[in-house]
Amino acid sequence: MTQSDELFERSKKRIPGGVNSPVRAYQAVGRNPVFIKKAKGSHIFDEDGNEYIDYVCSWGPGILGHADEEVINEVQKACQDGLTFGAPTRKECAIAELIAQMMPSMEMTRMVSSGTEAVMSAIRVARGFTGKDYIIKFRGCYHGHSDGLLVKAGSGVLMQAVPDSAGVPSGYTQYTLIAEYNNCDSVAKLFEEYKGKIAAIVVEPVAANMGVVQPKEGFLEYLRKITKENDALLIFDEVITGFRLAPGGAQQFFGVTPDLTTLGKIIGGGMPVGAYGGRKEIMECVAPLGNVYQAGTLSGNPIAMTAGLVTLKRLFEHPEIYTQIEQTTKTLADAYRNAFKDQVCVNQIGSLMSVFFTKEKVVDFASGQTSDRKKYADYFCFFLERGIHLAPSQFEAMFVSVAHHKEDVEKTIQVIDQYAASQKR
Ligand code: PMP
Repeated sequence: MTQSDELFERSKKRIPGGVNSPVRAYQAVGRNPVFIKKAKGSHIFDEDGNEYIDYVCSWGPGILGHADEEVINEVQKACQDGLTFGAPTRKECAIAELIAQMMPSMEMTRMVSSGTEAVMSAIRVARGFTGKDYIIKFRGCYHGHSDGLLVKAGSGVLMQAVPDSAGVPSGYTQYTLIAEYNNCDSVAKLFEEYKGKIAAIVVEPVAANMGVVQPKEGFLEYLRKITKENDALLIFDEVITGFRLAPGGAQQFFGVTPDLTTLGKIIGGGMPVGAYGGRKEIMECVAPLGNVYQAGTLSGNPIAMTAGLVTLKRLFEHPEIYTQIEQTTKTLADAYRNAFKDQVCVNQIGSLMSVFFTKEKVVDFASGQTSDRKKYADYFCFFLERGIHLAPSQFEAMFVSVAHHKEDVEKTIQVIDQYAASQKR
């Protein structure tokens, strides 16, 4: 029995499913998970001493690679000064200033401890500011596990949401409406049907939780226009895209400015951090200035702020990082396309990528669902056994970091070619 298998058996007795976040249990790929011992740069190492090239990057935070020397040094130094104070610090001020510089729509920022909290809070602010209750989200976009967002489309044309988890009373989702990503008509219909009642649209500007799906030309612009026309707010959930697609996130990449933005992952440099923010007049609704309440014992935690600041500063000062990671990802995307031809659909934008096992072009939730999950599971296991760690689910993104070097890419391409050849036999 491997160390990973043994640890999994032990963990299952004391942790639901043996894991602290469901996707880590590898259910979608039908094998036991590997337990990770350490990571450095683009590589991670499991408890059995196996080494992998890592394209999960902790689901996005690891844009500089694992255990970046400067991040670790600064975090170690910060630890000497105390782990948490529950009082304001210079670093919180510095990171809010830096965020405003990198992402100018973030005139004011509030730090929280996860992406879930960030989106939940931004929606509360949108409702408080507009005085309206309904929100629109898109089928297949994920915004964390808060009650009102754990929804699936109900039956009927109105697309009112129903809970997608036990434990969520239907009353909690009655104000969540569901539209189709990349479909402007579905949004227009909701604005007609719920005229004057919609507080906000929340959207992943690049969908990365149904696999990576780019916005069609004009889609984000349309969301900007219709929210303006209806006195609703546009919330970009940039938990994944923030500081990944560009120093200023998807809003810079596409040139569409939201009213509020939610951030997570990279902003914490590997520590548990989320943030939300946006236009000053909106953020002034938040307590203690305004009457929208939101708080957190560990919010703005000095260690997390240190890791985040070092990471963001590096990205801000070295925009060439974005050219590099995009090029690496493009090289990989081309290798998949060459090897699999029309047997797969490869969606790549910046350093985000998904390989869908379908012959269809994946442009929305429905087309993504045509992919063959069994084939994905087989592909995942083949790669893992050959030292490449991919997302253990078809509907997650592949993340590339600045630490992925030529040798990593060459090895990955070899395995892509081997796998493609094994499929032809
Ligand atoms: N929004 C998006 C777009 C996400 O991808 C995620 C998590 N993957 C979240 C929100 C929730 O973040 P967290 O897991 O930190 O709560």
